[in-house]
Amino acid sequence: MRISYSSLENFKNCPLKYKYSEIDKIKEPKTKEAIFGNYIHQVLKWFYQQDPHFPTLEGLLEYYYNHWPTSTGKPQKEKAYLRSQGFSWQDEHEEKDYFQEGMRILEEYYKKNFPPKSIIMDLETKFEAVVDETPNEPGGKHILTGVIDRIDKLPDDTIEIIDYKTGKRIPSQNDVDTNLQLSIYALGLQRKWPKIKLENLRLSLYFLKFGEKIETSKTQEDIIKTQEKIIDLIHQIQKSSFEPKSSPLCNWCGYRPLCPLWRHLYEDTLAKELNGINIEQKIDEYFKLREEKEKLDSQLKELKNIIELYSRQKGLKRVFGNNGSFNQEVNHKISFDKNKLKEILEPLGKWDEILAIDPKKLQKVMKEIPPELREEIEKIKKIEKSYQYLEADNKSKKDWEEELH
Ligand code: SF4
Repeated sequence: MRISYSSLENFKNCPLKYKYSEIDKIKEPKTKEAIFGNYIHQVLKWFYQQDPHFPTLEGLLEYYYNHWPTSTGKPQKEKAYLRSQGFSWQDEHEEKDYFQEGMRILEEYYKKNFPPKSIIMDLETKFEAVVDETPNEPGGKHILTGVIDRIDKLPDDTIEIIDYKTGKRIPSQNDVDTNLQLSIYALGLQRKWPKIKLENLRLSLYFLKFGEKIETSKTQEDIIKTQEKIIDLIHQIQKSSFEPKSSPLCNWCGYRPLCPLWRHLYEDTLAKELNGINIEQKIDEYFKLREEKEKLDSQLKELKNIIELYSRQKGLKRVFGNNGSFNQEVNHKISFDKNKLKEILEPLGKWDEILAIDPKKLQKVMKEIPPELREEIEKIKKIEKSYQYLEADNKSKKDWEEELH
């Protein structure tokens, strides 16, 4: 199988997104965050291409200004770039906010990183990493492709791989240490330049919004684990039913208008009707009734407390009204001597029946054990039966829409 790193990442984040992009070949409409991120990458690439005649800060910002993918009146040299992405800013304010954010990012980047202390070895380096699942067998080889933003040679001869990120959150050191993207880059670099030793390789993610670079390194053992992870992911792709996976990443997904989790938000009123029933009205009715039910439940609870208090104080086991009565019942929390119970049930072949794994308890334990053991348990998980059910969520259409914008 030939697969790009970004496709693998897409599958990990959401199998349906992978399907739209890689199987259905539907081009993902770019979100403004993606356009903005690509543009900042483009400006930094241009900056380093000027090596050794690096521009001044003013020169860098001038390039940024002149090539800004505008739609509302800013300098327009590259307006075609924006049009080619089928994109326009929502309004002038939105564009201004993004534009200023880009200026801030680049200014801070320049002040922190100029003059460069390293030699720029390559920019936007294409690589292919080979993962041999079953050597000597046709089809056992997988090729992973990707592009590394920048490769530097540091004064101590260490090689540094740098990937720029324009996201709004910064991960922990542990997240970066276990980051699959960087492991794949190391794998790709090893193939492209076999003379580079892992111990001389530094892998960095540069979080442009925060002006922070987080570094990590890899051992040969990490590389073997990465290969296993890749093979495992490829197997998952091969048997996947490509279900949507809701996550905060949906906010940046261009397939929302197609995705069954979000499509309804984009449909017009007519499409929301079926057999003369307007589903929006029905959903609103449901939540109104649920609210009334919650009020009634709370009133019932209050009444029950009053009745309970009365019967306790009066020492009564049963109290009567005109429409019904209440009995005082006792509930016991029970436990058994595990060994003795086993002695009785095991010879009858009934012991295993009562030892059924409690998925809720297992979920709690999963949170407390190391990630590699969690992965092991995930691998042996079998879905015995699936059933669909509707889950109500208090978030309104407006709340969802606000979150998406
Ligand atoms: S919107 Fe979310 S769930 Fe739907 S395809 Fe995109 S990432 Fe997957």
